[in-house]
Amino acid sequence: MRREIRIRTVARESLEEITAQVQQVVQSLGVDVGLCHLFVPHTTAGIIINENADPSVCRDILEVLGRLVPRDGRYHHLEGNADAHIKAALVGNTVWIPVDRGGLALGRWQGIFLAEFDGPRERRVIITVLPVGEKGDGSSA
Ligand code: ZN
Repeated sequence: MRREIRIRTVARESLEEITAQVQQVVQSLGVDVGLCHLFVPHTTAGIIINENADPSVCRDILEVLGRLVPRDGRYHHLEGNADAHIKAALVGNTVWIPVDRGGLALGRWQGIFLAEFDGPRERRVIITVLPVGEKGDGSSA
């Protein structure tokens, strides 16, 4: 089962929490036990799972990525957004989350964040939910 959500980012760099939107989509699909795969089809944005209780954590993540990959560093890519490509490569563009009792089985402090590195833009997240067979379906010996 596949769905897509769109997120309008508002700054060049930000971590936009999308947990509620993803949870809503997953719950609407009616899969009791399974895996949720999230894919960001962009080269200057990515996706991470991290703490959603203290916003300082997101701020620290962006600041450290900025120190590791400065915007005005020396790069071969001449579009002016080489840092954004590298940051997106570092954070990755997929995550997997277990689905249990029809919803995302995230840890207590975990949230899902679209990582924008070259906004503001409209971004897409493709959500695929795969049911996982339980005992008795013949899939395990
Ligand atoms: Zn580029």
